[in-house]
Amino acid sequence: MSPTEPEEPTPTWDGPMPEWTSEPPRVDVVPCGVCAATPTERFNFFQQVGVYRLHEAKKTEGYWCRTCALSIGRRVQTRTIFTGWAGYGSLGPNMTNIGENPSELKAVAKMDEAEPNERTLKPGPPVVARVAVALAIIAIVFVILWTLLA
Ligand SMILES: [Zn+2]
Repeated sequence: MSPTEPEEPTPTWDGPMPEWTSEPPRVDVVPCGVCAATPTERFNFFQQVGVYRLHEAKKTEGYWCRTCALSIGRRVQTRTIFTGWAGYGSLGPNMTNIGENPSELKAVAKMDEAEPNERTLKPGPPVVARVAVALAIIAIVFVILWTLLA
């Protein structure tokens, strides 16, 4: 280096030293698809809609916080129990969905609670305590009795 060249300024950092942790930075934090709260997890809920000979499977999936996931999962499960029986080909898939959604709901229940905000959904009553589910059970019992007694 010749003496005429200007000296390169030495980079300095006057701020606080960044904290060094052994944990890698979390890059997988996805905000809730409904209320933007964190933490979230990815969930899939399945709904079966059966009408006479037609049946349709719907999948509701997304990253949701605990409260929103609980609300969505319970709503989908209630709809499946209520609407999934009215088609001939729907019975088998509906049994599968009714069996799968509770395992997703159990995973939701294990999540850490996110800080709720005004957009966070209300979880509502548990699936077994919903009127639509009670009506579906009454209807199924009625159909079974009708079939047996006819
Ligand atoms: Zn949420």
